Amino acid sequence: MTGSQFIDGRRTTSASGETLDVLDPSTGEVVETVDLADGSDVRTAVAAARAAFPGWSRATPAERSTVLTRFAALLGERAEEFAQLETRQAGKPIRLTREFDVPGTIDNTAFFAGAARNLEGKASAEYSGGHTSSIRREAVGVVGSISPWNYPLQMAAWKVLPAIAAGNTVVLKPAEITPLTTRLFAEVATEAGVPAGVVNVLTGSGPAIGPALLRHPDVDMLSFTGSTRVGRTVLEAAATTAKRVHLELGGKAPFVVFDDADLEAAIHGAVAGSTINAGQDCTAATRAIVHRSLYRDFLDGVAELYRGIRVGATQDPATDLGPLVSQQHREHVSGMVERARGYARVVTGGAAPTGAQFDRGSYYLPTLVADAAPDSEIVRDEVFGPVLAALPFDSDDEAIDLANDTVYGLAASVWTRDVYRALRATAEVRAGCVWVNDHVSIVSEMPHGGLRQSGFGKDMSTYSFDEYTVVKHVMFDRTGTARRDWHRTVFTEADR
Ligand code: NAD
Repeated sequence: MTGSQFIDGRRTTSASGETLDVLDPSTGEVVETVDLADGSDVRTAVAAARAAFPGWSRATPAERSTVLTRFAALLGERAEEFAQLETRQAGKPIRLTREFDVPGTIDNTAFFAGAARNLEGKASAEYSGGHTSSIRREAVGVVGSISPWNYPLQMAAWKVLPAIAAGNTVVLKPAEITPLTTRLFAEVATEAGVPAGVVNVLTGSGPAIGPALLRHPDVDMLSFTGSTRVGRTVLEAAATTAKRVHLELGGKAPFVVFDDADLEAAIHGAVAGSTINAGQDCTAATRAIVHRSLYRDFLDGVAELYRGIRVGATQDPATDLGPLVSQQHREHVSGMVERARGYARVVTGGAAPTGAQFDRGSYYLPTLVADAAPDSEIVRDEVFGPVLAALPFDSDDEAIDLANDTVYGLAASVWTRDVYRALRATAEVRAGCVWVNDHVSIVSEMPHGGLRQSGFGKDMSTYSFDEYTVVKHVMFDRTGTARRDWHRTVFTEADR
């Protein structure tokens, strides 16, 4: 084994003696056995990141941009390798990794290569008669990042790229069940010229090494993507040394279909938006809130398309839907659906597909649940599977109230052909992103991030630099005199 930790520009093996099998969720086969980091690996990685910080933060924007441009090109050359590895460790259909995860990551890298040269403070100006002020935008320092298993490569990119483009150094802990593309991402970054120690990746369990990373006094900022439950732990840990925090947490996106919507578009949007990545997407459409006049046709249309979704081998380009990430996660998803049978109607799905080819994988059929009460578990809590709960409404006020009836606020969509309805809904629905007549689409130029218990701070776009930079005020005296007018408020001299 070459070692599963990537610290200071090279692979090392943890002395912990602990290992974990990374499994292909579609077959249960071992993709790789990884060694798991312990507290001493955290300390070594943070020390490497700290040592790399002065050089990297002082590199010129052009130097950082050049390296990131090369990084994007190398990712492009190795795109198929990334797609294969991501498919195997996360159980994603190969079409999704080839056409979404990997190109998205390359585009993000190219975007931040350009954005690195657009970091600026405000121009100098005089705000008092005797001073010139300017603003410096500086890197925060060492960023401790933790990412989830649902989009391992993209989440690593979202955490690492804005941080290093702005001159920070990073210690990133991916989810231990899907660490392989994150480690490869860091290796390729180093190959592209990102100096050793700027990006370090620790493969280890959250509860085991999380606290050591989150509470390390030399870590200046915490950047976390994952569940709201673990996000609270991150916030508590941040209090130890008053660290800056960026949290991208859970979601329960409403999908509001008004009575004037293009029903066919809404049905297709709901199916794509709820089954992308087997529904393991924090912005996935999860609560279809549909005007009563369209409700029955919407349910029929979604159910029909769900039944036509091709569930199959992840390597087959014809496969639409792969497995859930693990057997344990499938139990969580099916448990929520089984409990929903007691208070709602399962229109289609609600089971694993049958057939020998599915026996060893953690597959679950697209599932439509109708008529659940707004306060029921399936409507309120994250399922994180290909499960859409639908409920009817009668008035626009009710639709917006239902959309906002959640502790989350990550994403939402509204479906209407009435511009005034769309304007009202986009203003009143409380979410970090509101789509009109679409759901899930993202672009590198625009921010991604939530409100309320979906967290705070932005990934992607130049808005993410607000998380990864500090604003420093620099004030120059411009009088050149020993005695300043304002001194009189503090002391007086006898001869004055
Ligand atoms: P999770 O919170 O269980 O795990 C996320 C990461 O935290 C993993 O790396 C895990 O090892 C680590 N972790 C677990 N316990 C820890 C602890 N005590 N201390 C430190 N780290 C710990 O989430 P998950 O199950 O991997 O991912 C699914 C969740 O992520 C969903 O809630 C989803 O909505 C959310 N998510 C949000 C976004 C977003 O942008 N808002 C994006 C993707 C996923």
